[in-house]
Amino acid sequence: MLALIIFGTRGVRSTIKEGQFFCPQCVSDQSYKHKKVTQFFTLYFIPLIPLSNKGTYVECQSCKNTYIERVLDMARVVQVEEKQRATPVEQIQNRLNEPAAPAIAAAAATTPQSSSTGSSKAEILSEKQKAVKKLLIMMILADGKVEDSEIHMFHKVYREVTNGIVADIYREIDQVKIENKLPHQYLKEAKSFLNDEGKRDIIKASMMIAAADGDIDPSEIRMVESFGKSLELRPAEVKELIAEITG
Ligand SMILES: [Zn+2]
Repeated sequence: MLALIIFGTRGVRSTIKEGQFFCPQCVSDQSYKHKKVTQFFTLYFIPLIPLSNKGTYVECQSCKNTYIERVLDMARVVQVEEKQRATPVEQIQNRLNEPAAPAIAAAAATTPQSSSTGSSKAEILSEKQKAVKKLLIMMILADGKVEDSEIHMFHKVYREVTNGIVADIYREIDQVKIENKLPHQYLKEAKSFLNDEGKRDIIKASMMIAAADGDIDPSEIRMVESFGKSLELRPAEVKELIAEITG
């Protein structure tokens, strides 16, 4: 008899911290779980040996969006601003650290208003928004040309799946061109910052773009299935998602 040994690797998620934070998507205070993704060596699909840390993310327990850890600092900044700034001792220390008056004037002239903490809070995108945006642009760029109908479809799908808008799509397209990554390469990096909800929405979005021209050929389905594989989703689950979009 020939014994078949099945081994591989898989990312396993664990919670390292919990608390309250300001969720940019909910636009309110929510509970969060701070998760760590550890790559494990698996034998017969059972994780046995931890190999390396792949990433961490903060997951909103209400909308299930995931964010980089910096979102927790943002919440703290907002809280500090709400309380009355600094104590008298800190105020003196701050004054000692301040640059001389001409330097302040120069800095004020060159620093755009948008760098204040008030607006930066809204600039934090969820990891799902980042991944959907990049992958859809990679798909649009696949044939080397960008058509108006594709841009129109991008906005429609992005809004539907992530509840957000992209202000300057052409700047984003240029950025993706500079990074010059293949979808699989990108998704394998992005998966460590996404939960299953985010991964499923990425598959849905890519299928919606593939289906946008009215017909779906087998090569497009194979492509979306391979995206699912790069994201470590179960093949059966990906097939179900594809069937949902194709009807
Ligand atoms: Zn939320």
